[in-house]
Amino acid sequence: MGRPVPTPQSLDFTALRQHLLDRRAELLDLSRTDRSGPVHIEIDATATGQALRQGELADQALALSRHDRHLEELQRIDHALERMEQGTYGRCLVCDDDIAAARLASDPAVVTCLSCAGHHP
Ligand SMILES: [Zn+2]
Repeated sequence: MGRPVPTPQSLDFTALRQHLLDRRAELLDLSRTDRSGPVHIEIDATATGQALRQGELADQALALSRHDRHLEELQRIDHALERMEQGTYGRCLVCDDDIAAARLASDPAVVTCLSCAGHHP
């Protein structure tokens, strides 16, 4: 860190980075409202306890899958920010080609070029 981020293309990294940071903050907010209180699934060893908790577990599973999607996007964003730090942002993870600026503008967290995205959706 501390060193300037190289810009291999004429991309406005500052704007993309800000976009990622905004989305990141939004997702962190969403993940807080995904559930009331911290995720807390207890494995109750008794049969009675398990029966009582069935419905609750189903609710939590739903909240968790939504939460997982948010976490997944957060990871993509974190990864993109990390790649900006390392100077590898904007390059395809698969073929190492430059990712089209328009593609990055529509999804700044994207990690593959258009042709590779066909193989790695
Ligand atoms: Zn590629």
